[in-house]
Amino acid sequence: MSSQIRLPSEPTLRDIYAARRRIAPMIQRTPLIRSEALSTRTGRNVFLKLENVQQTGAFKLRGAANRLLRLSDEERRRGVVTVSTGNHGRAVAYVGRQLDVSVVVCVPDLVLPHKIAAMQALGARIVVQGRDQEEAELHALELGEREGLVPVSPFDDPDIIAGQGTIGLELLEDLPQLDTAIVPLSGGGLMGGIALALKSADASIRTVGVAMERGPAMIESIRAGHVVPVDERPSLADSLIGGIGQENRYTFALNRVLVDECVTLSEGEIAAAMRFAFEQEHLVVEGGGSVGIGALLHDKVADLGEHIAVVVSGGNVDIILLKSIINGEWREG
Ligand SMILES: *Cc1c(COP(=O)(O)O)cnc(C)c1O
Repeated sequence: MSSQIRLPSEPTLRDIYAARRRIAPMIQRTPLIRSEALSTRTGRNVFLKLENVQQTGAFKLRGAANRLLRLSDEERRRGVVTVSTGNHGRAVAYVGRQLDVSVVVCVPDLVLPHKIAAMQALGARIVVQGRDQEEAELHALELGEREGLVPVSPFDDPDIIAGQGTIGLELLEDLPQLDTAIVPLSGGGLMGGIALALKSADASIRTVGVAMERGPAMIESIRAGHVVPVDERPSLADSLIGGIGQENRYTFALNRVLVDECVTLSEGEIAAAMRFAFEQEHLVVEGGGSVGIGALLHDKVADLGEHIAVVVSGGNVDIILLKSIINGEWREG
């Protein structure tokens, strides 16, 4: 594999602005709140970008809305097929219902029942098949071929990346002095889009990607300098599980160049972050959404600036699980 690093030619900052205009009627412009507890702990100014209160409970609505709004009339009539660990599927189902586009979501066996139920409630057809995301994705492609459905990637697509990148524009507006962004990192659509927006404004803004120790596919790939397959294992950060795809076209190249520091968390550290979010900030945050908070809580970031934005990416957590974490009853499985 070539060691030359080049950014993909799309998306660009211009695409992120276009996405913002396109999706504005469908999404919340989410709040950025100061975290007194994390500011005191770190001695810096820490702010939380609350995508857990986004419609559908996660930022994925931004990319999904941008992608589906770009379908041609003919593609809208055919419908779409996607693969998801829950939040992306929910977002695509939500947008599909609004635009009257039929949606099929292929999910691997690991996906949690409450996430499947939410997608079904939005009218999506769910197909549970495959031991991991990669198998489910193969199935989705086959199904798409057979039934003439348009495949929609959960992260490796310029329209998806540009949609998620709208968070970066909002951060720059609400906190112009921002010097560090801490972002959950899985397939890299979220981080790729945000980093593109932020570094287009000021290349010195630091980006910190965070994932779980159990199979951090993008982080291992960045460290190796090529796409590394990972074993998908259960994690509290279920929305971060999954590989980045051997055929990755966009997000690996973006994140490889634009991510300054990578951090991983143990399951116990993720649980502590979820508990902290609830007790100190009164926020319901899912495991994958809490890893940025966890990175600060556990002093994992080597190079912290003065004005830090943490992306709290989602709040779709099983309430029984959250209760057990808050009660201190949760034990690592
Ligand atoms: C999908 C997701 C992520 C990771 O986003 P990528 O674009 O795959 O890196 C983070 N947090 C939540 C809540 C998610 O649903």
